[in-house]
Amino acid sequence: MKTLTLDIVTPNGSVYRESDAEIVVLQTTAGEMGVMYGHIPTVTPLKIGHVKVTRNGQSDYIAVTEGFAEVRREKVNILVQAAESADDIDLERAKSAKERATFYLDGDQDDTDLKRAERALKRAENRIEVAKYK
Ligand code: ATP
Repeated sequence: MKTLTLDIVTPNGSVYRESDAEIVVLQTTAGEMGVMYGHIPTVTPLKIGHVKVTRNGQSDYIAVTEGFAEVRREKVNILVQAAESADDIDLERAKSAKERATFYLDGDQDDTDLKRAERALKRAENRIEVAKYK
């Protein structure tokens, strides 16, 4: 079976790179998308969520923030602000971030702060979810 290379890149550098992915499942703004070797090339926006990679029949989960995926026949490049493999997620940090964001959202904030807090809450809740796959 031909496999894909998956590269997940952030401003801090590469977070995940494997060349033997059998299937990569992306959470795009339009829904879930499964990618295998030979997929039609495309670029798609990603929402805060996870990337699921199956290699040798085993799945890895990587939490990602908003960004883009570039799909080529033999490769998937993911460019996001932040990404962490389930094993690298600091659960306590994510819980604190969730508490902070919830506190802001419960307060009397202006629109800009609300939007920022909503995104922070989504990132924190996503990390808490993905950490379950440790
Ligand atoms: P926090 O308020 O805890 O910093 P955040 O959502 O504002 O959370 P980001 O701006 O998305 O954090 O990420 C900043 C950096 O910290 C990135 O490199 C990201 O991978 C890392 N990071 C954030 N939260 C966690 C976490 N819970 N576990 C591991 N790394 C994290």
